[in-house]
Amino acid sequence: RAESVEYVLKTAKDHNVRFIRLWFTDILGTLKSYSIAYNELERALEDGMGLDGSSIEGYARIDESDMLALPDPDTFRIMPWSNGEYQVGRMFCDIKHPSGEQFEGDPRYVLKRNLKKAADMGFTFYVGPELEYFYFKNDRSTEFLDEGGYFDLTPRDLATDLRRETIVALQDMGIIVEYAHHEVAPSQHEIDIRYTDALTMADNVMTYRLLVKEVALRHGLHASFMPKPVGSVNGSGMHTHQSLFKGDKNAFFDAKDSYYLSTMAKQYIAGILKYAPEFTAVTNQWINSYKRLVPGFEAPVYLSWARRNRADLVRVPEYKPGHEKSTRIELRSADPGCNPYLAFSVMLASGLKGIEEKLTPPAPIEENVYEMNEAERAKRGIGTLPGSLLEALKLTEGSDLMREALGDHVHKAFISNKKIEWTEYSAAVTDWELKRYLPLL
Ligand code: GLN
Ligand code: MG
Ligand code: MG
Ligand code: MG
Repeated sequence: RAESVEYVLKTAKDHNVRFIRLWFTDILGTLKSYSIAYNELERALEDGMGLDGSSIEGYARIDESDMLALPDPDTFRIMPWSNGEYQVGRMFCDIKHPSGEQFEGDPRYVLKRNLKKAADMGFTFYVGPELEYFYFKNDRSTEFLDEGGYFDLTPRDLATDLRRETIVALQDMGIIVEYAHHEVAPSQHEIDIRYTDALTMADNVMTYRLLVKEVALRHGLHASFMPKPVGSVNGSGMHTHQSLFKGDKNAFFDAKDSYYLSTMAKQYIAGILKYAPEFTAVTNQWINSYKRLVPGFEAPVYLSWARRNRADLVRVPEYKPGHEKSTRIELRSADPGCNPYLAFSVMLASGLKGIEEKLTPPAPIEENVYEMNEAERAKRGIGTLPGSLLEALKLTEGSDLMREALGDHVHKAFISNKKIEWTEYSAAVTDWELKRYLPLL
């Protein structure tokens, strides 16, 4: 740490960084930030900065609210778009009790704890998420900017420029972008960043969401990661590619298997399939998330896996079949409105549990699961993802694995926060109801 602190202080000075944003997230994955002046940087790195935990969603009760945000010097980056006079830096923080003890409600710590478990088993957990999002004219309507579709090269329009500007900003912050393209729905886009270890990636996801929105705002537009903003077209997913490495060996790879998957990879898949109903409230945490997980929009509904079919929960990409480093599995249910620290935690915990329990996955389903009838799915043992936030919550609440993966504090705070959301929603009268019932009843 001492060396990294030294580096931060020197870099900030050399680049005329006058302000440093200290970042962390609440349990729902909302980015929280406070800004300190350069002269406070050394002290902040040493002692942390105080904050009122009772004002952060899911953190603390009023009577035990004093907390410290301790910046992680390895995450120091300079923000894009300097004003010409000075620069602004940022660091992610770990949240501590005033005693210096780790606060168990900090999502970044929850992920670190799960990664430690993987490390104890000898694994590094790599993830590559694909975050989709929409550009809208403003945040009060869902008016599209373009009518393009999948991989469409729209005439050099605003969205192309926005995407490009976002990529440059991401790269300026040290996030490697692999490719970007127009998605299936009008005005829907995707920028894919190179896979990294899960902690770096969760930080990257927070940065990505902010930069996408900030670039849009600079053009007077609104970028949204809402899972299903428009009912008639595809929603936005956060497909998450995952693999476990032992040193530089991919533990998911087996050259002799017809899917190039090791037994361990299959156990991991089996764990994901078995525990998906219990973790879905975390990977798909909003009422609206469940409007995306319906048949017909390339989002999963059933608990199946396959190589090709994009209707399945887990897919085994085969872009480079037999290539060790790129052998991985892709979970397709998560959406970009999740808290990435918690989402990566529950995915990993489920996969590792599959390995511990030496589970065998059901046979892969290479035909379209949407087209099977219920009896056929039942015969093949294909279950269904929870159909609503309430259903998902009940499964998470009763899950020992989720309590262990999230820790008691987050498990409890998350469930109670989400139950309140459900209660509010239950009393809301939607446009759909008015359109349907007012003329009729
Ligand atoms: N948007 C789809 C989803 O909801 C995915 C479509 C795609 O990536 N081709 O998951
Ligand atoms: Mg993609
Ligand atoms: Mg996509
Ligand atoms: Mg994908």
